[in-house]
Amino acid sequence: APLQEIDIHEGLESTITILNHKLKQGVTVKREYDCHTPRISAYGSELNQVWTNLIDNAIDAMNGQGEIKIRTVCENDFLLVEIADNGPGIPPEIQSHIFEPFFTTKGVGQGTGLGLHTVYRVVVGQHLGDIRLFSQPGKTKFQIRLPTTLSS
Ligand code: ADP
Ligand code: MG
Repeated sequence: APLQEIDIHEGLESTITILNHKLKQGVTVKREYDCHTPRISAYGSELNQVWTNLIDNAIDAMNGQGEIKIRTVCENDFLLVEIADNGPGIPPEIQSHIFEPFFTTKGVGQGTGLGLHTVYRVVVGQHLGDIRLFSQPGKTKFQIRLPTTLSS
């Protein structure tokens, strides 16, 4: 897919709609769309895969019960998207491995271990952005930082 002018909030909303069946009753999604200039040049369908994988992991971590918070912030040349959950957190000893392909703590047939590898490939490799992880028991936040003017 080509580089496009996309609206980050539209991508997040369509992802939430597609994942609605998995959100069930117990998970609420809270938006804090603080960025008022959400249009950037990016690979839209690949970024939607990023939001899908992060939200999917958040739902799994909370075991169907909890709150996902999605926040956007504009900076000078970057747009931040934060996806946070109030699940159990990611133990410090595995944090350095979660972006490796096939790393999963889920059971056989439950997880491929490719979700966060894809997130890394798309955000860092394709968009020249970066990913920060903040996690402690009861809270996990992935912060994705994307340049607003990417060129092919
Ligand atoms: P998969 O979801 O198939 O296991 P991922 O690459 O998406 O593979 O995630 C790798 C691992 O990272 C998960 O198995 C889980 O242990 C951990 N993880 C990812 N996101 C979260 C989260 N929000 N809370 C707790 N653990 C997480
Ligand atoms: Mg996953």
